[in-house]
Amino acid sequence: MPRAKRIFATLAQKNHEQVAFLYDEPSGLRAIVAIHDTTLGPALGGCRMRPYATEEDALHDVLRLSEAMTYKAAIAGLNLGGGKSVIIADPRTDKSELLFRTFGRLIEGFGGRYIPAEDMGTTTEDMELVHMETDFVAGLSQTIGGGGDPSRVTAVGVHSGIKASVKHKLGKNSISGMSVAIQGLGNVGMYLLKLLHEDGAELYVTDVDQKKVDKAVEIFGAKAVGIDEIYACPVDIFAPCAMGAIINDETIPQLKCSIIAGGANNQLQDSSKHGRKLMQKGILYAPDYVVNGGGLINAAMELEGYSKERAFQKAHGIYDTLERIFALAEREQEFTEVASYRLAKERLKEALFLKKIYKP
Ligand code: NAD
Repeated sequence: MPRAKRIFATLAQKNHEQVAFLYDEPSGLRAIVAIHDTTLGPALGGCRMRPYATEEDALHDVLRLSEAMTYKAAIAGLNLGGGKSVIIADPRTDKSELLFRTFGRLIEGFGGRYIPAEDMGTTTEDMELVHMETDFVAGLSQTIGGGGDPSRVTAVGVHSGIKASVKHKLGKNSISGMSVAIQGLGNVGMYLLKLLHEDGAELYVTDVDQKKVDKAVEIFGAKAVGIDEIYACPVDIFAPCAMGAIINDETIPQLKCSIIAGGANNQLQDSSKHGRKLMQKGILYAPDYVVNGGGLINAAMELEGYSKERAFQKAHGIYDTLERIFALAEREQEFTEVASYRLAKERLKEALFLKKIYKP
């Protein structure tokens, strides 16, 4: 099949509104912007920088990620669409002011339909360079009106997600006395640990960085557990806050928890297979892209004049969202992630319907 035809076939399959290839010789910029759906609003999504092996790999990644952003924004109750961009370059060697300013200049041309933010391989400082050329950028530092590091808002959202899960699965309104195992004590995990410590939870932690583990033990009285032992901890809640694909064929048989609710992205190695296995084991899974929605919420708040209070308030809303997801999943006897996609799609359908009714 000719190349252009193949690309259109891919777009049709993924149902994207627009995909743009950005190229600029002087700066060396090679990027792809994918706008999946703008029914709810402008497509906000991170700009990832990676030395992809082929352009096809980059296209595949950006299409997959931008589609996921549509549902993440919809389920978070934000008036935002789904989009993402990738810059095909090595973040360790290829960053320059010219590159990011050129990217910003070309993003300006989208007129606000796509709004990038920091992501894997890019930083707040990179987005500030983008901001020199366009206002259509998020993930900026607080000193220039942005939301700054989103981790605390993400952790507050994860904390609300844990509370909703405990209420649904164990019928309790408080986390006091509950046991929680946290995998990863980075920006999100460490703040979550603090919140759970204040709740009076019994805490188990692990991290590849021993200094972080020592801090958690010393300040929050957590119990240190080995990297591979965290799965088998006899706890009420397992909170993955490090990397993805950690719920898989190897780890599921080890799990002794009743609930999985954490901040890490893409926790299930195979969504349908491992989702089914968790259901069979009677473990309640709080969908990761709902639980960690605080990061997106924080960036979204920049578009309406950033307020930390408003960002925290919106992140607390993850509790109510999960209640609806759990209720639907129980009623329909389906996996929680399937139920959450169903609710996100319903919101998109309603928005389309309203647009038709109120069309001037
Ligand atoms: P981070 O890099 O600050 O922390 C990750 C921590 O995990 C580090 O302390 C690292 O040492 C540890 N780690 C790495 N490998 C490990 C292993 N095998 N076992 C145990 N610990 C290990 O990242 P973060 O910002 O805290 O984000 C954590 C997760 O949440 C990531 O998956 C990220 O994509 C996701 N997330 C973060 C945000 C946010 O606002 N920061 C928002 C949405 C999703």
